Amino acid sequence: MVNVKSVITGIKFSEQALGIFASEIEKYGRIETGGVLIGRIQDGVAIIEKATNGGPNATHKEFFFQADPNYVDMIIDMEFANSDGKNVYLGEWHTHPQTHPQPSPKDLRSLDEIADTSEEFAILLILGAIDFNIKRLPNQYYSIIKYKEEEDFFHLILT
Ligand SMILES: [Zn+2]
Repeated sequence: MVNVKSVITGIKFSEQALGIFASEIEKYGRIETGGVLIGRIQDGVAIIEKATNGGPNATHKEFFFQADPNYVDMIIDMEFANSDGKNVYLGEWHTHPQTHPQPSPKDLRSLDEIADTSEEFAILLILGAIDFNIKRLPNQYYSIIKYKEEEDFFHLILT
């Protein structure tokens, strides 16, 4: 049996993903926003090729965000087709009205549920929307992975 603890240790974002984070935070400020993370696993690193926004029917509140499921499902299918099946749904991202974001108990429960219904794992990325600056991303992100078959959450290091 493989020790899954060592399988995925890092996370990396494409220019497109970083651009979405910056533009969404600029648009929503302290109101939460987010979307899904699409990409692939390579050499133990989650490569986020594409981040989406929440879509036209997303719910944005000060302490709550929910993406538009029809919209994100459509983008996930499209990215899968356009990449010949290489880029898949890896998880979710959303912002918090914090500088150094921390997941809420609800975030952890939600990630747990998503991992349970996934094939292997799910990733959660939280970005601190206060004074957000892409250059300070290492201090303003919090990313964890939850494997379906493991109890614990594991941090993903920005690579
Ligand atoms: Zn949250």
